[in-house]
Amino acid sequence: MRIAVLALQGDFAEHEAVFRRLDIPTCQLRQRRDLEQKFDALVLPGGESTVQGKLLRELGMFEELRTRISNGLPVMATCAGTILLAQQILDDPAVHLGTLGIAVRRNAYGRQLSSFHISGSFAGIQAVPMSFIRAPQIEFCVPNVEVLAEHEGRITAVRQGRQLAMTFHPELGSDTRIAEYFISEVV
Ligand code: GLN
Repeated sequence: MRIAVLALQGDFAEHEAVFRRLDIPTCQLRQRRDLEQKFDALVLPGGESTVQGKLLRELGMFEELRTRISNGLPVMATCAGTILLAQQILDDPAVHLGTLGIAVRRNAYGRQLSSFHISGSFAGIQAVPMSFIRAPQIEFCVPNVEVLAEHEGRITAVRQGRQLAMTFHPELGSDTRIAEYFISEVV
């Protein structure tokens, strides 16, 4: 088992550290030829979705990744990664990979609340630390999208088939349970 982490921009190193703690090997996707490596699942980290989307296209990785995700490659996306997967970005004509049946609004928590940390429940796992950093909001889901977490009435984590996506960062502390959920339930 090996997990590929998209390593173009953002907090990919923190995701690698989580899998290291779990003794699960990772590899980085930085350029097109990295897609020739063998890997079983993909992590799309947080960062800046417009930059990541642009780099994916410029580096010629976009079509191949979109096809693989559509064909069932398990993927865990956090924050900007979730924006990359969304079928629709509200207030923005851009669509990136567009494989996940959700509509998101970028930077939805406004200036005052642009960063905050909570402890919440995720798919029945209690007291999971969740960091929201200029987080998007999931505003709509198609019917076969399962909601795994909510905070104050806003959807914060979803799953559709082998795509797991959340608007917060679970990888910034020492709690590895969401990565473990991804491995055991999705991959
Ligand atoms: N605000 C960023 C975006 O729109 C996402 C922030 C994050 O990944 N922490 O892409």
